[in-house]
Amino acid sequence: MDAGWDIEAQVVVIGFGAAGACAALEAAAAGCRVLVLDRFTGGGATALSGGVVYAGGGTAQQRAAGVSDTAEAMFAYLRTEAGDVMPERTLRDFCDGSVAMVAWLEGHGVPFEGSLCPDKTSYPTNRHYLYYSGSEVSARDIAPPAPRGHRARGRGTSGGVLYARLAQAARRAGVQVAGQTTAVRLVTAGGRVTGVECRSLRGAPGWARAAHRALSRLARKPYLYAPKLGRALHRPVGWLEGRYARPLLIGAERGVVIAAGGFAANRAMLREHAPSARGTLPLATPGDDGAGIRLGTGAGAATALLSRVSIWRFLTPPPALLRGVLVDADGKRICDESRYGAALGDAIAGRGGRAWLLADAATIEAARRQVRGTTLWFQRLQAWYLLRAGKVSAPTAAGVAARAGVDPAGLMATLAAYTAVAAAPPQARTDPLGKPAELLRPQDQPPFSLIDVSIRPRLLHPAPVLTLGGLVADPGTGQVLRADGTAIGGLYAAGRSAVGLCSASYVSGLSIADCVFSGRRAGRHAAVLSRGATPGPPAVLSRGATPGPPAVLSRGATPGPPVVP
Ligand SMILES: Cc1cc2nc3c(=O)[nH]c(=O)nc-3n(C[C@H](O)[C@H](O)[C@H](O)COP(=O)(O)OP(=O)(O)OC[C@H]3O[C@@H](n4cnc5c(N)ncnc54)[C@H](O)[C@@H]3O)c2cc1C
Repeated sequence: MDAGWDIEAQVVVIGFGAAGACAALEAAAAGCRVLVLDRFTGGGATALSGGVVYAGGGTAQQRAAGVSDTAEAMFAYLRTEAGDVMPERTLRDFCDGSVAMVAWLEGHGVPFEGSLCPDKTSYPTNRHYLYYSGSEVSARDIAPPAPRGHRARGRGTSGGVLYARLAQAARRAGVQVAGQTTAVRLVTAGGRVTGVECRSLRGAPGWARAAHRALSRLARKPYLYAPKLGRALHRPVGWLEGRYARPLLIGAERGVVIAAGGFAANRAMLREHAPSARGTLPLATPGDDGAGIRLGTGAGAATALLSRVSIWRFLTPPPALLRGVLVDADGKRICDESRYGAALGDAIAGRGGRAWLLADAATIEAARRQVRGTTLWFQRLQAWYLLRAGKVSAPTAAGVAARAGVDPAGLMATLAAYTAVAAAPPQARTDPLGKPAELLRPQDQPPFSLIDVSIRPRLLHPAPVLTLGGLVADPGTGQVLRADGTAIGGLYAAGRSAVGLCSASYVSGLSIADCVFSGRRAGRHAAVLSRGATPGPPAVLSRGATPGPPAVLSRGATPGPPVVP
């Protein structure tokens, strides 16, 4: 190893979210000295998430709920979502290993539960932890549907529980964590990645580190709901990094895993690669600034699917709204309203971002009665918008169309066609767009309402966006690839920094499931792919260790600026 390193480990993981924690756990299980570094204190988007993991094929929770499922059915459904973004073999491995993946997470302390949610919802309440988190019922002609959204057990959005348990397990396994340390460049030698150039607050005054920790935590939630406020709170974090961070050079004997999240927080990258995301809310933390992707491309990596984003537009809860009819500005029906919120978002973005849900008086009344029993606090705001602030009403369908700015003739024609199907006897009730028969109800009771569900900046009913593309990684090993398909020695990528199982299309739980799958794969291979290396003593870094003098960068490298969104 190069004597110029400030710290050495066998496997270095950049980013301590779900993907990074899982990579670290596998590399440590293979006997490696593992160091994880994180720009903040770890957790990333994972800790803020709903903690839903997409899993099936007969998990313990599905069996406890009396649900029958097979890996084959899961594969057939996911093929419709994932397309050919991954080779068939990889998707099969993911589905065949799904039961074991949930057991592995449970083995590391992540709690799940087989309490089945009776309603179609964007996120179940604290009574239920297993639900239909995708469009499985809409795809029932392709594969027997099964609920596969496994939400980590915990009140509210339970991604915090999922992350905390994985982080605890990693520390228990001897993984060292260097917080407040930003990777700014990869060090290469002979075409191989051998280390990471960082800027770290490890030598900074205590108050600066405490302020950085506190402010970065404080900014995370506002960043999700009111990005302007979040950005303002985050600004001093960038200043502290610029003022006090010092270079730190970390050697990686066997490999570096990039697990630094996506780029939903980088507005310039979004504008360049995914203009359809205009007017959306980043479903991200300030750490999702594309730094992971840039680290990879700086070392020669290829990227793919950067234009793929998941825009969420949920019509539920309350579930009764699924009886409504989703139309565009011409009054034409857009798609099966019961599909997953990201599929609806995709369809709406494809119509220029403008859409309305038509609902009659009976549907609105049924939905109002459901609000209390089917929502968590953040969903109550959405329900209030859908049922009150976001709708206009009129005694006739033509009248409400005129009020909303929708073409009245188009809407009348759509409504007539929909009512003809919905009023048919159950055995003849077949929706051309695939909505399940039990959700097909005539919308014929005045007054009629049109709820504006367009994608545009809106405080009460924002459309969140998640980026899905990233570095191209070998589907078998997680090694990062160049444009010519050759692997960059010593470099791996996982989670939202990389192209993954959810890169074509996201359903709830598929991002975290992919983080677990790709993180474990990268950690395992980084640990064993470099020949001749034997596991050594624990990583040099220890908690509370006093940092040495600022590192002298070797190989003539100059530190880059801190990464600030
Ligand atoms: C509110 C919300 C709800 C969601 N719900 C779900 C859900 O229920 N199920 C699901 O599947 N998905 C969900 N998602 C999406 C999902 O949470 C993320 O896609 C996923 O957690 C990403 O994990 P990751 O490990 O790739 O990145 P992250 O969890 O974001 O971790 C990346 C880490 O890298 C660090 N980092 C970044 N740059 C650097 C750098 N240069 N140097 C060092 N460290 C760096 C960051 O600080 C961060 O801690 C949700 C997202 C949000 C925001």
